[in-house]
Amino acid sequence: MKIAVFWFRRDLRLSDNTALSKALGSGLSVLPVFIFDTNILEELTRIDPRVTFIHRTLTNIHNKLLEFSSSLACFKGDPQEIWKKVISMYDVKEVYFNRDYEPYARDRDQKIFEFLRGKGIRCHSYKDQVIFEENDILKKDGNPYTVFTPYRKQWLERFNPELLKIRTDLPFNNFLKTKHRLPSLSDIGFAESGIPVRNFRLDILDEYAATRNYPGLDATTLLGPHLRFGTLSIRWLISQLNDMHSVFQGELIWREFFMQILYHFPTLVDHNFHSKYDGIRWRNNEMEFERWCKGETGYPMVDAGMRQLNTTGYMHNRLRMIVASFLCKHLLIDWRWGEAYFAERLIDYELSSNNGNWQWAAGTGCDAAPWFRIFNPEEQLRKFDRDLMYVKKWIPEYGTPDYPAPMVDHRQARTRAIEQYTMGLEL
Ligand code: FAD
Repeated sequence: MKIAVFWFRRDLRLSDNTALSKALGSGLSVLPVFIFDTNILEELTRIDPRVTFIHRTLTNIHNKLLEFSSSLACFKGDPQEIWKKVISMYDVKEVYFNRDYEPYARDRDQKIFEFLRGKGIRCHSYKDQVIFEENDILKKDGNPYTVFTPYRKQWLERFNPELLKIRTDLPFNNFLKTKHRLPSLSDIGFAESGIPVRNFRLDILDEYAATRNYPGLDATTLLGPHLRFGTLSIRWLISQLNDMHSVFQGELIWREFFMQILYHFPTLVDHNFHSKYDGIRWRNNEMEFERWCKGETGYPMVDAGMRQLNTTGYMHNRLRMIVASFLCKHLLIDWRWGEAYFAERLIDYELSSNNGNWQWAAGTGCDAAPWFRIFNPEEQLRKFDRDLMYVKKWIPEYGTPDYPAPMVDHRQARTRAIEQYTMGLEL
């Protein structure tokens, strides 16, 4: 029997999933497939909380499919090899998936596309994880926007509720009747992480604009991993917003802004957006980097942020800005070191947002904070955690002799950073 395959990637849900709904409407029975990509898994520790989260989500999907006498065909390996296996097991006529804009994924998909086409299999890819993708929003001259404010303006002008067509009630009976066994976490070489992915919350949205900057209030949506792995649909999310939520909506537009930046400028993965910053001589002191990683800098806002990250895989956005600025400016450590540390630890790690925000903090990015703007961590503490609610939660020894003195003097570090950046720019 000729079948269609739907390939789950970063869209781990059965409702309002564009490519899945197209596959189920294709007239063919649909085999749902997931591949644990060893090229990615090999970079991770054995107890990575993201793998636990993915596995749990796949288990829920698999269990739902069992209700329809179907199951998830889950594989582990190099995706190109796995596709060879899938087409040797089934008579595949068509393949459906949602687009992924990261350089690695684009390269992988292109190769798999060509391989499948060569075998006479039709491939269909769709936009799903964003409202506007790739070349949807370009400047009049055909070039991509590299500044956020005019991009947001265009995004809002081009937006209309038609774009939010939500596809529920998918014809689940069109899934292929199969009986695949879902591998356990240990089958794929991982163990259960003790770090959970918290549920997202939208009940805080009305207060978001007023409270989002105060980490002690813990009043953001926690949507990061859900958007990253597609456990909820961006269309559904935006359909929940109203006029009171424009600040929040702006953050979702930042997400799409950075995605289209990475799509158009894939070399950003390891390069400054503006090459004029290539001359900065980073100090890259390994012992200082270690103190930053451990949250032992003697600056409570920096340390509390890093300890929250190390313990929970999450860090409040205000702290992400402070710790990133501190690493690049106070310690003059290359933003790529900090970016890599975040990539390893963040449960909401997203290449485009992480890279975009690190380059924003370092001043090297497309629409970055001016390089001479250097956050004063003590002032940030006074402004955003005046009653020490956040700091005391993460640094129990704060205010006792056990807490270290600042590892650098703020004013001296500021002067040194400005000198280094100025020299780098002159080179
Ligand atoms: P909320 O404030 O509730 O925001 C909701 C959603 O909007 C987020 O989940 C995210 O999808 C999007 N969003 C919010 N702020 C930004 C932003 N500045 N840029 C892009 N999208 C945004 N976000 C990631 O999703 N992955 C990352 O790897 C990441 N790395 C970052 C690194 C640094 C140095 C900085 C300063 C920020 C980074 N951010 C990253 C952006 C932001 O900090 C997180 O999206 C946010 O803290 C996640 O928590 P939340 O879902 O509760 O946020």
